[in-house]
Amino acid sequence: MADPYISFINVEKAFGAHRVIHGLDLGIGKGEFVSLLGPSGSGKTTLLMMLAGFESVTSGEIHVGGARVDQTPPHQRNMGVVFQNYALFPHRTVAENLGFPLRMRGVARAEIRARVARALEMVELSAMAERRPHQLSGGQQQRVALARALVYEPSVILMDEPLGALDKQLREKMQLDIRALHARLGLTIILVTHDQSEALTMSDRIAVFNAGRIAQIGSPAEIYDRPATQFVAEFIGETN
Ligand code: ADP
Repeated sequence: MADPYISFINVEKAFGAHRVIHGLDLGIGKGEFVSLLGPSGSGKTTLLMMLAGFESVTSGEIHVGGARVDQTPPHQRNMGVVFQNYALFPHRTVAENLGFPLRMRGVARAEIRARVARALEMVELSAMAERRPHQLSGGQQQRVALARALVYEPSVILMDEPLGALDKQLREKMQLDIRALHARLGLTIILVTHDQSEALTMSDRIAVFNAGRIAQIGSPAEIYDRPATQFVAEFIGETN
């Protein structure tokens, strides 16, 4: 890639004596949808958290948009994060759920209203603004969680197993919805998943993780048709 928007350069991470990411290099283009795929414990979430700034790097560098960010506090990195356990405030409406964090940051009321309206429109939930979370379906709640990340107008969306709590049918619908949103908005998205079919369906490229290293990176077709190692072949060949 000529000029990646996000670069991990020789990034290492250790928790005490336990090294979980080994000299990792990865470049991600602006507007790309990249999945980090691999078994549980292979370091995917740790890498995402280092990019978001919720985990420090032990050594190496992370650059975003030409600036080094690995020492920058999380709220200055302009990343939207969506987790599997997307706790919404149960007693607040959807609009309040989105607006509340902005209010805490001192954003003006009119600006909050405009941003909340835009974010709800992006996930096609404008009609649900005054509902409370329990009045929404699982998929709609998931879209509120996504809108809560979009309301910051981030340059990058980070998703950690965002669909893990949903049943299979809904998960497959949300995969297509998120993919469509990506195409429509030109967002840069990084998705952590252990689900091969999810990564194959959604991504421009997949980085297959094995024990803190990237075993292979490529398009879904490249990974599927030409697995580079026995590990990749076995992992991709598994059915969930
Ligand atoms: P994955 O997302 O691929 O399941 P993780 O990044 O969550 O993997 O974990 C990678 C390794 O780092 C695991 O061995 C895990 O136990 C360890 N780990 C993750 N977070 C911490 C932490 N806060 N303290 C100690 N060890 C951790």
